Amino acid sequence: MLLNVTKRRQLVLVLAVLGVVVLVLVARRLNATKIGGQGPAEPFRIAGNFYYVGATDAAAFLITGPEGHVVLDGGYPTTARLVMASIAKLGFDIKDVKVLLNSEPHADHGGGLAALQQASGAELWASEASADVLASGGDDPDGVLPLRALIWIGVLGYPPAHVDHRFKDGDTIRVGPTALTAHITGGHTRGCTSWSFPVRDGDRVLNVVSACDLGVLATSTYPEQAADRERSIRVLRGLPADIWVTCHARWWGRYRKFVASTTAKNPVEPFIDPEGYRAFLDAAEAELREGRTH
Ligand SMILES: [Zn+2]
Repeated sequence: MLLNVTKRRQLVLVLAVLGVVVLVLVARRLNATKIGGQGPAEPFRIAGNFYYVGATDAAAFLITGPEGHVVLDGGYPTTARLVMASIAKLGFDIKDVKVLLNSEPHADHGGGLAALQQASGAELWASEASADVLASGGDDPDGVLPLRALIWIGVLGYPPAHVDHRFKDGDTIRVGPTALTAHITGGHTRGCTSWSFPVRDGDRVLNVVSACDLGVLATSTYPEQAADRERSIRVLRGLPADIWVTCHARWWGRYRKFVASTTAKNPVEPFIDPEGYRAFLDAAEAELREGRTH
């Protein structure tokens, strides 16, 4: 009898936690939709061989080169077709994409990678920790149990991607003359990866940083998380950034900068934003100090 009461309490607790997680996820999804997270967006050149090919908020980037292209992030599973349409609209062939990269393996950035991989035949590179999550279709061991349970039963999660190569912090991934350096900036997830690479605009070389998400979700925690976030902010502060982007396009002002670029004398100019980069890092640091999640 006592056991039954305990079991019933446990069941009620599990259901309550599950309910809260579902509510949080639905609210996030609705919020993302409201902001237009998954809506189609016009693809455009940011600078040189660096293009935006993502949705309204779930970002994806194309870095082109004579020996093959790189795509960074795949958005949600349903974003992949938008990414492919954007690549075609810019005049490039998905079959020329040779390398796929990822910022972090949550469904809004890793979800579309399997479809992109299938269409392109490209090889996927990921950090050790991200690789396991991408290959499992989104099951992050650092996720809270109710969230993982929803992935196990197929309510959440995404088509698993095949990870061809695992890189270490500081490794450079090359496709011909294109070279992107991986910075493992954990916190949001263990293997969260920021990328730095140069692009050419006329006779100048601009430093690009794609910063990984620096905030944390209540649904994903691990013991070294706070220390990782401290280190990640420090690492990112040390990277020179003329142009900066993140996996959520609203954070770096995709639309505002795109609109400004259509009338600018040099369309690259509105994307040059080292002050915005510093403000992004300051905000992330404040969020960390105040113990906020996002
Ligand atoms: Zn995430």
